[in-house]
Amino acid sequence: MATPDVAGAGWDEAQCTTALAHLEQLQAQIDNLRLAIPRVIEPFQRPPNPSTFKLFAQGLVGSQNDVKLLKEQWRAVETQLVFEHAKKSFAANTDLSASKSTPSHGWTEREKERSTKRNNSSESLDESRSNSATEDVPQILVEFQKAHPSIKLETQDDNRTISTQFVSGSFKLRFRIVVDQEANGKHKFSAECLGASEPWLSINRCIASRPQANCLKYLLDMVAAYKTVKGTSCAKCKRLLDDTALTPTARRSKQVDAANDTIQTVWEAVHESCLG
Ligand SMILES: [Zn+2]
Repeated sequence: MATPDVAGAGWDEAQCTTALAHLEQLQAQIDNLRLAIPRVIEPFQRPPNPSTFKLFAQGLVGSQNDVKLLKEQWRAVETQLVFEHAKKSFAANTDLSASKSTPSHGWTEREKERSTKRNNSSESLDESRSNSATEDVPQILVEFQKAHPSIKLETQDDNRTISTQFVSGSFKLRFRIVVDQEANGKHKFSAECLGASEPWLSINRCIASRPQANCLKYLLDMVAAYKTVKGTSCAKCKRLLDDTALTPTARRSKQVDAANDTIQTVWEAVHESCLG
């Protein structure tokens, strides 16, 4: 591996792709903040109803959390390292002409593709494991982290508690998964989304009623879907709000035909009231 100070080119392609994906993620957060004001005043553009104030307050708190999270991520070591690298690289070579041919978007996908390729070899193993009662928790966590580098999992207590938090739409979501092992070795997973009011309570009910309750990979992928699948409209009824003024708070997967006769899993946002 090259030394970091050689013309600022100490990073290999994989590191650069990861860094660009990370910056793209920050850019998406900033773009999302542009909608903060419209989101806050949106409840007043509809006929008044009992949840108008609640939606207004949620929009406001959600936007404040968005700003806070952006600040935190901006100061995070991961981000600062990228800036540091860019500075060094620029100091070593001020010719930025090559950047003209560097795409400004699509890095998150590229990063995902890269980690999928890397993971392909372990995939068949993964599928057979998801049906078994005992799960290799550390390995599943490592694989999840590779597939979703932007979602940081924190583990405590020897992987018995897994937590993560991120912003989804205008809400900050904090998830905590508790891993229990029964006497016969079978794993049990319970998950909660922290929050004492809607939509968090509804998210909790939708997580509790998930299929494949004993599969940690499925549960983690579902949690990730709260970040990657925006709940802007329901996949079933196509509306934003259901009759109780709730946004689509459930995430469910379905199998679709993909290229070359393969089957792909896609996640969708669905209202709690639309779950069949
Ligand atoms: Zn619906």
